[in-house]
Amino acid sequence: MDYQKIIDGLHQKHSKEINKGKVASYIPELKKIDSNKFGINLFTLSNQSFGAGDYQEKFSIQSISKVFALTLALKEMGEKIWKRVGIEPSGDPFNSLVQLEFEKGIPRNPFINSGALVICDMLISKLKSPKTEFLTFVRKLVNTKDIYFNEKIVASEKKHGFKNAAHVNLMKSFGNIKNEIDVVLDFYYHMCSMEMTCEELSKSFLLFANDGIIPYNNERIVSLRVSKRINSSMQLCGLYDEAGQFAFKVGLPGKSGVGGGIVAIHPDLYCITTWSPKLNKKGNSYLGFKALEAFTTITEASIF
Ligand code: GLN
Repeated sequence: MDYQKIIDGLHQKHSKEINKGKVASYIPELKKIDSNKFGINLFTLSNQSFGAGDYQEKFSIQSISKVFALTLALKEMGEKIWKRVGIEPSGDPFNSLVQLEFEKGIPRNPFINSGALVICDMLISKLKSPKTEFLTFVRKLVNTKDIYFNEKIVASEKKHGFKNAAHVNLMKSFGNIKNEIDVVLDFYYHMCSMEMTCEELSKSFLLFANDGIIPYNNERIVSLRVSKRINSSMQLCGLYDEAGQFAFKVGLPGKSGVGGGIVAIHPDLYCITTWSPKLNKKGNSYLGFKALEAFTTITEASIF
C-alpha cells in the first residue's frame, strides 16, 4: 500500500473544501489560529511516518488529551475508575449538562467534558504533581521533551469556561468530585491546552494499536484487556454525538478535539491523525472527518 501517495492525494483533494466548517470560538484563544491549516500523518507500528501538509505543526489537542488522562487513570488505579464514570455513548454534545443531574453526577463516559473532569479529579487525588506527571507521561509516549501546555489557552478557557465550572459544581454536589473545584478545572484546562503535531499524536497513540505496549521501547503501559477497553471507549464515545457516524463512515476507533485534530487507530497496523481547525456542527473537524472517511474507503481499512 503506497500510503504516501494516498495521503498526498487526500490532502490535495480535500484542500479544496478548506472553507467548510467553523473554528471553535467559545474559547477565544483558539479562534486566533490560521483556519486554513491542514495536516495528515500516518505512523505505522513498523516506525514509518507518512505526512502531508501541516503535519509537523503544533496545535491545541483539546479533548484528544482525554484519552491520555483515561489511560493514565487506568494505569494508576485500574478498573475501579468505572465506579465513578460510565461507558455508554451520551448521544449529546460534549459539553451537555442534561444527563448529569438525573444520572446523579455520574458522567456517561470519560470523553464528554464531565467524564474527563471526574478522571482529572481521580488523577489529582492519586498523583503527587498531576500536571508534571501528565506531561512526562505524554512525552514518554512520543519519546520527546518538546511537548508543553499553552498557558494562554489555559487562561482563555478559565475565563470563559462557565459550563465546565457548572459540570464540576454539579458533580461535587453529588459527591463525585473530591478535590477543590478550581484545582480540578486548572488540571483539566492544562491537559486540554497541550500542543502537539499530527505526527506526535499518531506516535503517541501507537500503544493502542499495539495491545498497550509503546512500540519504540516495548514498555507495557496497560494490559491487553485495558488497551481494548480504551479503543472500544473511543469507538463508542470518541466523537460524542457523532460517534455513530464516525464508526459508520470511518470504521476505526478515534478521538477528536475542538482544536481540529482527530486521531484514529487501526489495531496492529497504524495510527492516523488529521488536523484542520474548522469544525462541523458536532464540534469535530469538518475536513479531518472527510479525509479519514476517504482514507478508509480507498484503503478498504476498517476494524469491522
Ligand atoms: N477544553 C474544551 C472544553 O472544555 C475541550 C472540548 C473538546 O475538545 N471537545 O470545552
